[in-house]
Amino acid sequence: MKRGLPPPLSVRPYHVLCLICGCAEERDTGPRKRGARRFLKAIRQFPDRPIRLVCNAGDVFAYQDPGASTDTPEGPDYNLKRDMDILRRLNLMPGAVVPARLLLQLVLKTIPTVTGICAVPGHPAPPWHGCPRATSGSYEDRCRNGIEAYIPRRPADVMQAEKRQSMAALSCAKGVTIRPHILLCAVCQYGNGVHPPFAEDNLPEFLERILTQTPDIPVTMVRGADWAMCAPCPSRVPALNACVTGHFNSGGLYNELKDLNVLQALGLTYGTTMNARDLFRLIFDKIPRGYGVCALPQQDIPETSVWRDACGKTQGPYGYEKGRELLLERLK
Ligand code: SF4
Ligand code: SF4
Repeated sequence: MKRGLPPPLSVRPYHVLCLICGCAEERDTGPRKRGARRFLKAIRQFPDRPIRLVCNAGDVFAYQDPGASTDTPEGPDYNLKRDMDILRRLNLMPGAVVPARLLLQLVLKTIPTVTGICAVPGHPAPPWHGCPRATSGSYEDRCRNGIEAYIPRRPADVMQAEKRQSMAALSCAKGVTIRPHILLCAVCQYGNGVHPPFAEDNLPEFLERILTQTPDIPVTMVRGADWAMCAPCPSRVPALNACVTGHFNSGGLYNELKDLNVLQALGLTYGTTMNARDLFRLIFDKIPRGYGVCALPQQDIPETSVWRDACGKTQGPYGYEKGRELLLERLK
């Protein structure tokens, strides 16, 4: 277990939907409210807590069956079908463990309505009447509030303070640490005309320092959303040194892959230190275009995949190619 991460919490899939539906605030004390409140308490304490999605799937998944104690009164068949319908929409198997923030975002984006899950339209037989709240519109209305109704953004004053502190550190640093793929983001920003001051990361300031003051400053490749460059980013989770950017808050996954793509293209590894000018010359030599390296191709990736990366929607050119041309001139 990564330091700072609590152990997985077992949650029924329907409890995630009940939270969105508003059950945590209900007067009722049944399993919908209890499950929703427990999940809410967990994400308030730790938004990226690992959540194990359990249901009474039986068969070869019986090892994770939680039993009927958290079923709602509609009966075991309805309860199982509801959980399985949810897991199917999420493309997850019973027992899957997912960070809570990612899970919530996945549900909000892929399940915009409970119709067909918590209750079916028409006049089904009594065991299948479903949940009385399902036609209230509560879930659908609250879905539109988005994830910030449960997990607030990083506070602006905290990010501003982080910007000031990390800028002060950068101005007198004898060396810089950086995750590899954002070296290409720095070039892309430059090509797109982004210059200091920039609120959301320290890449334009880093590049400016290399271009105008210390072209030979040592740069070391490190894993994760490292403080030196990512400190003021809205997507950084300081306690985990993690990145939760992207459509499903799953940027930590595909950004790690981008980092490794860049290291592979350069023939380097984490921990490598090079002087900045040589490092950028190597990047420009080995990586003429971003597509396939820091922009991951999307054509075989489903819309609901946590591996979808907005950068790879088109084959480019991106700001990277333009920035590369401009910076090749300046680093001559
Ligand atoms: S309709 Fe019922 S079971 Fe479905 S999310 Fe709302 S409260 Fe939960
Ligand atoms: S935290 Fe993530 S999105 Fe933000 S600058 Fe770092 S890598 Fe980029």
